[in-house]
Amino acid sequence: MGEKKVIIVGSGFGGLSAAGLLARDGNEVLVIEKNEQPGGRASIWEKDGFIFDMGPSWYLMPDVFEKYFAEFGKKPEQYMDLVRLDPSYRIFFDKDDFVDISADLKKNLDLFEQIEPGAKEKMREYLKLSEYEYDIAMKDFIYKDYKHLIDFLKPKLIVEGTKLHMFQKLDGFAQRFFKSEKIRKILEYTIVFLGGSPFESPALYCLMSHVDFNMGVWFPKGGMGKLVEAFYELAKEQGVKFKFNEPVEKILVENGKVVGVKTTNNKYKSNIVVVNADYAWAEQNLLEEKYRSYSEKYWEKRKFAPSAYLLYLGLDKPLKRFIHHNLYFYPNWEKHFDDIFKNPKWPEDFSYYVSCISKTDKKTAIRNGENVFVFIPVATGLNDNEITREKYFNKTIEHMEFLAGENIKDHIVVKRIFAHKDFSNRYNSYKGTALGLAHTLKQTAVFRPRHDSKKVKNLYYTGHYNHPGIGVPMVIISSQILSNLIKHK
Ligand SMILES: Cc1cc2nc3c(=O)[nH]c(=O)nc-3n(C[C@H](O)[C@H](O)[C@H](O)COP(=O)(O)OP(=O)(O)OC[C@H]3O[C@@H](n4cnc5c(N)ncnc54)[C@H](O)[C@@H]3O)c2cc1C
Repeated sequence: MGEKKVIIVGSGFGGLSAAGLLARDGNEVLVIEKNEQPGGRASIWEKDGFIFDMGPSWYLMPDVFEKYFAEFGKKPEQYMDLVRLDPSYRIFFDKDDFVDISADLKKNLDLFEQIEPGAKEKMREYLKLSEYEYDIAMKDFIYKDYKHLIDFLKPKLIVEGTKLHMFQKLDGFAQRFFKSEKIRKILEYTIVFLGGSPFESPALYCLMSHVDFNMGVWFPKGGMGKLVEAFYELAKEQGVKFKFNEPVEKILVENGKVVGVKTTNNKYKSNIVVVNADYAWAEQNLLEEKYRSYSEKYWEKRKFAPSAYLLYLGLDKPLKRFIHHNLYFYPNWEKHFDDIFKNPKWPEDFSYYVSCISKTDKKTAIRNGENVFVFIPVATGLNDNEITREKYFNKTIEHMEFLAGENIKDHIVVKRIFAHKDFSNRYNSYKGTALGLAHTLKQTAVFRPRHDSKKVKNLYYTGHYNHPGIGVPMVIISSQILSNLIKHK
């Protein structure tokens, strides 16, 4: 059992979910956050009557949230008003060429059949596999900690790994089922949520189709900020204390053991420190070199998930052709993936995502207005300057106007651009990555950085760099793994 003093550096979903669990286990928990609010990448920004979710906007994998809240004998619905979106989202292939993915599977199967004769049956087969992979992954793979290669190479896991198509690429796998490029794009785009590319990520991630088509796309009324509030409230109920606007400057180590942290204001003692700030940044900036588990070279060699070029736009009118979630797929999307992963550069043409949460919750915008969030995945480490920002702003708005068939530019009453520099300044992100470490086979499970430090006793890490990886549900699981590790130490 607990009864230890724990300091958590950072209050992203990783920090919040670890805090609740560690406090429940009897520890005295203090979360120290650099910024003015909890949530990390899932911060909210309020401006002139608009409430923007700054990061995540898709509430997927509701089972993970249920499982987390059940750890406290609670249900997510006790903290939020959750609605299932229908349609789940709209995909634009061109101006007058778009499809809606419904909450009703039958409608989606009919849609696939229209796009490619025979695809209905193929999709049933694909979804069956996807569900099977999801169940196995959740049961035997995702909720487990992997410290050593031997944990990963257990015969059962190797057998399951083959069944999970760990050793094939997602795009090649989808090609076995569908000829239609449109269908493959619909099934593969979710890999971007995991910071990967369908041409490089394992086919295991076809499990996202089960998440998408069977489990559905949900939304907490008020925005994803309400999900942050839920985790924050739950942690406070467990007795967790918080300090905001207080960046941690150093992790204090004595005799190979962590003894606390130094912030810009204070020194705090503790028996355990859990780092939720970006692993790569924290190791290199908060620890003396001799205490780092991974070298600078190690981080340089990692494949990073994309950064993002984001727009937060408040409009004084609603947009007619956009729904809550909208995706535009650029015809040669492979080129955009290359610009992110193979030859990093600002893309000339690109796929992008637009969310208008005011379609579901009018309170997130001014009266008769629209709350618009635009996300273009771009490579990390690019030159992020004012000229490029404005160039992409104009390009994006022009293309959105083309899809929407209406003027947008003259109706913008709130505008904010957020890119690499902001990720680094606001979240201490390494090379301005939005999402952390990409999900490639070589960065899966045991190949992701460990939850416990190799060099310093009682120093731990949780968040999107650890196993299982990127996305709010994954980060919550990371903290469940971490709290078990600490409990059974
Ligand atoms: C634009 C965008 C869209 C996304 N969309 C989705 C989505 O739709 N659905 C989904 O599930 N996921 C989505 N994600 C991914 C998801 O948001 C992340 O995987 C997750 O929020 C990461 O949580 P974390 O706790 O690991 O890190 P973070 O949220 O980054 O938390 C780390 C915290 O540490 C703090 N910190 C850093 N340095 C210090 C310091 N020195 N002292 C104190 N505190 C410090 C930071 O301020 C931050 O609060 C999206 C991410 C982005 C950026």
